[in-house]
Amino acid sequence: MYLKNLTLRGFKSFASATNLRLEPGITCVVGPNGSGKSNVVDALAWVMGEQGAKSLRGGKMEDVIFAGTSSRPALGRAEVSLTIDNSDGALPIDYSEVTIRRTLFRNGGSEYAINGDTCRLLDVQELLSDSGIGREMHVVVGQGQLDAVLHQGAEARRSLIEESAGILKHRKRKEKALRKIEAMQGNLDRLTDLTSELR
Ligand code: ATP
Repeated sequence: MYLKNLTLRGFKSFASATNLRLEPGITCVVGPNGSGKSNVVDALAWVMGEQGAKSLRGGKMEDVIFAGTSSRPALGRAEVSLTIDNSDGALPIDYSEVTIRRTLFRNGGSEYAINGDTCRLLDVQELLSDSGIGREMHVVVGQGQLDAVLHQGAEARRSLIEESAGILKHRKRKEKALRKIEAMQGNLDRLTDLTSELR
């Protein structure tokens, strides 16, 4: 599995459609200060489901949409597509190539798609969580973050290891199932009360 292609449209400083073809191995992005190198990394995190505007170096999520320059008006939406080569079957999906697309509209609407089919954020998170490139984005370590990772508390470090090992997905599912059981128990208790009143 490797990241094969990244396309940005209206994402941060990338107003026009910009296509980055990646190869297996190491990719270096070089350029002058402020030319958009970190924006490429932000786009990677964003398309994989990053929800924190601060992690994307903005104040609110809308800040990822091209805000306009003196020569070009602001755009109404940001879109990023990431194609992952899955010929080794590392992702639990029956395709040798997987394209994840995320779109955000300035009016607040948002969309995710996997291989062109609209899906939920949860579907993207679940797809990626076994690959080690899941929700918490431990594979994207920004400037200064390495220090933060090294100084993390035991709980946070454990969650990092769990996500990398693919356990987090099951923990989330367990929590969801426990919440359902609790709600069901409440219904059962009410039912028991009602039947004893009717007797
Ligand atoms: P450095 O080498 O200094 O870290 P960099 O190449 O990583 O720089 P970025 O931080 O990726 O640069 O890009 C910063 C540029 O992106 C700034 O010029 C900023 O104005 C522009 N930018 C960020 N968000 C938007 C947006 N929503 N619309 C338009 N431009 C944006």
